[in-house]
Parts: sequence; structure tokens; C-alpha cells
Amino acid sequence: MTAKRQARFARLRERMAGAGLDALLLSVGADLPWLTGYEAMPLERLTMAVVPADGEATLVVPRLEAPRVVVDPDVFSLRAWSEHEDPVAIVASLVGKRSSLAVSDRTWATFLLALQTTLPSATWTPAGRITGPLRAVKDPDEIEALAAASAAADSVAVALLEGDIPLVGRSEREVSADISRRLLDAGHHRVNFAIVASGPNAASPHHEASERQIQAGEAVVCDFGGTLDGYCSDITRTVWTGPPDTFEVEVYKVVQQAQAEASRAARVGATCEQVDAAARSVIASAGFGDFFIHRTGHGIGVEEHEDPYIVAGNVERLVAGNAFSVEPGVYLPGRFGVRIEDIVVAEPSGARCLNVADHDMVIVGG
Ligand code: ZN
Ligand code: ZN
Ligand code: ZN
Repeated sequence: MTAKRQARFARLRERMAGAGLDALLLSVGADLPWLTGYEAMPLERLTMAVVPADGEATLVVPRLEAPRVVVDPDVFSLRAWSEHEDPVAIVASLVGKRSSLAVSDRTWATFLLALQTTLPSATWTPAGRITGPLRAVKDPDEIEALAAASAAADSVAVALLEGDIPLVGRSEREVSADISRRLLDAGHHRVNFAIVASGPNAASPHHEASERQIQAGEAVVCDFGGTLDGYCSDITRTVWTGPPDTFEVEVYKVVQQAQAEASRAARVGATCEQVDAAARSVIASAGFGDFFIHRTGHGIGVEEHEDPYIVAGNVERLVAGNAFSVEPGVYLPGRFGVRIEDIVVAEPSGARCLNVADHDMVIVGG
């Protein structure tokens, strides 16, 4: 573990030097566990790692959280603070005279505002500019962790496709709870979301599972994922609860083809926007361009949405180790929607799909 952590700290410090940063301050969010293995509790009590460009890193944690920290003395030391102490003052003294600071994007405003008052001459930038590009390139262990999370999500998707998860007559909320339980049974440590969108609700990409009873003969979009050993899964399959009409079949096939084309385009050296365009052009030329209302995908890792974003305007080129979703969709308001999503890893010859659950249209029984 230490060698991997040291390598990560070294890459981080290299980028900090390139950006002229004196110190990085990491609080709640994914940067801290990515770097140290420790995830901060989102509490009114401050947790913050102080990572100077030129010195030893220190993790400042509330004393009652200290037992959860696995200290890696080669890369950081621990400073537990007691209830009578002021953690902002402790962080400020660790920062010292350093003035060019980056703070993790999810740091609570209350702490940043206090730090800005305590360190009036400091300048601040979002740490995501430093950590985002680093976290976007996964090492082989991280790819394996993502593959394990994807396999766990796949097992639930296969149950859905095989009709083992009853749909008709149950509410979206019940099905969502069922999927969530199965994600945990499959090994996830937590469930991040379980979207179940049936009939006209399927036209809303992030529909919140409701009390609506699922009917026979309609589309059901199920998009779910969790975290397993610190890495996220995310998969979407759309099933029918009875025979689709020819129009529904046509829409489904367009989305299926768009998903396949974008996966093929996701090779090392392609730009992110080329991958997006590969999906979008299939959908647009079928006449549904106005109904594909989101980007084609997002990076995934310790966080379910992170760099790289697969979106028009992103001219970053994919490199080996980029892991992201490919999830085109078509959403027809008041009618239905279709989305198919896999997690893929960019490789020289195209994408390696981490999800294996089938993409073909299926009709599941009541
Ligand atoms: Zn989404
Ligand atoms: Zn998803
Ligand atoms: Zn996604």
C-alpha cells in the first residue's frame, strides 16, 4: 500500500509544483480517500489533510474519528484535535507562511470562510484542477476495483433482464428498494442510487423512484450503482414489461447502436467529444437528436461522477486508464425513454467494457 500511496503523493506534488501551489487542503469528498485511504465524515467537526508542496502531509481529524484512521507514516502523520481546540487554527499553523493554496472542491463553505479569515494573505484555487486529471487516470489496481464493482452491479442487471426482479404491479419505489438490497447482497458497501423510471417517467433521465405502479407493456429504465471497496459501479438497462410496438423497438435499436458506436470510438487518443459525437450522430441521424438531452458519459472512480466528462467541447484526449460511462439515451416527454449504460476503460483498440450484462431488448414477465 505504501508504495502506491507514495507514488500518488509524488504525482500530486509534481502537479502542485507545475501549478505553483504551496499546499493542498483536502476535506470531505473523494480526493482525500483517493490520496490517503481515509474518508472524512461530513461533520461540523473539521477533517482536513494539509499537504505542503515542500513538507510532510498531516491529517487533522476530530479526536473521536482518529481510531478510524489507518496512518501510513511514510506519507502522512496524524494530528487529532480535542473538543476544546480550534481545528481551523491548527490547519492555519500547519499551512504557516505558505500562501498559494488549493482546497478540495467539496470543502464546506463554513470552514473555507474561516480559513480565509485566518489566512488573509492566501490565494485559493479548487483542488479539483490538480486532483481531477490525476484521479482520471486509473492504475491497474483501480481498474480491478472498478471491474469488481461493475461485476457486482452486473449480477443485479442480469437478474433484471432475466425477469427475477418482479416489476408489474409493484411501485417504482419497491423495485428501487429491491435493487438496492441486491446491490448490497452482491458485495457493495453502499448504494449510491437506484433509479427506476417506468412508462412516461422513463422520459426523465434522473427520475426519482415514485409510488407509481409499474404497468404491463411499458418501458422501465433502471439505473443503479454503489460503492465496493471504495470504487463505484453504475449501469443502466431498459426493459419492457410486455411486447413493445414497432416505434419503441426502433427507438431502442437507435440507442443500442449509439451505445455500441460510442464504445467503439472510446479508444486511447480519441478526444472526449469524439466519443460523445459517435453516440450523438447515430441518434441525430435517426431523427431523435433533440431528445438526447445529456452528455454521453462521465468518468467514474472513487466518485460516481468525475473526470473525464464525455461531452461536446471536451477536447481532452483519452489516455490508457481513463474509466467512464457510455450512456446515451432518448427521452420522449409524456411517452417513454430508453438509456443503456456501461462503464468502459479506454484501451488502444477501443473500449474495454467492464459490464457484460446483455444489451438486447428484453421483455420481462409480470
Ligand atoms: Zn446520470
Ligand atoms: Zn447510471
Ligand atoms: Zn452514469
